[in-house]
Amino acid sequence: MPLLAGASDLLPLAMNGVWAAGDRLRNMANLLQRIRQRNRAVVEALALANRLVADNVREATVLKSGYIDVLEGISAGQRQRLEREAKIRWNRSAVVRQMTSTDWVCPVAGRTKFRDSWGEPRHGNRRHEGVDLVGFRGDPVLAPVSGEVSHRWDTIGGWSFDLTTVDGDYYFGTHLSGFGKSGEVEAGDVIGFLGDTGNAEGVHLHFEYHPGGRENPVNAYPIVDIHCTNRVEMGLSLYD
Ligand SMILES: [Zn+2]
Repeated sequence: MPLLAGASDLLPLAMNGVWAAGDRLRNMANLLQRIRQRNRAVVEALALANRLVADNVREATVLKSGYIDVLEGISAGQRQRLEREAKIRWNRSAVVRQMTSTDWVCPVAGRTKFRDSWGEPRHGNRRHEGVDLVGFRGDPVLAPVSGEVSHRWDTIGGWSFDLTTVDGDYYFGTHLSGFGKSGEVEAGDVIGFLGDTGNAEGVHLHFEYHPGGRENPVNAYPIVDIHCTNRVEMGLSLYD
């Protein structure tokens, strides 16, 4: 088996393994079994990754340095492609974790309506990197998960909150009319109030989810779609 093929199976396993070491270990063991006869170098690389996963490393940086060692010997282009694929899988599993979490709270407490507008073009050559939850001015904005909250003025969005979880995930919300609790918060705590500050057209919460930290936005629509149960159809008025 060529080294690249071995590595392309391995990398997503190594990354996902942070979250579900048990299953991944079994997969890794099977993979090792399959490859063992064919390529000594790959076997050694996989053994290294196997140990990393076995240690159930939670810190992505440690894991990252591990798989970079593992991938030594393949070209930069191949490595980039593998990392991109692994990131997509990792992001997808992060979204599924939030979708299936029983602790996740809809960030808008009152009646709200929203649609999937991920990636739509915006002014200044930007893309829409969040979901817009339309609601009533002054309605509470809730922490979707527990974490550390701070507030600030964003030059585009207006009054905003930043929320970082212990796992390093990052949430951003903007266009607020006022601030709520900051510092350590629990899921469901009031951390702000709906408004239309910044570049908002109409009262809404622009809401973003970045698994693993800032600069990694993913489409949060499937998450709010599941958890925001006080939802009004897009075509209807919030007052109906
Ligand atoms: Zn928006």
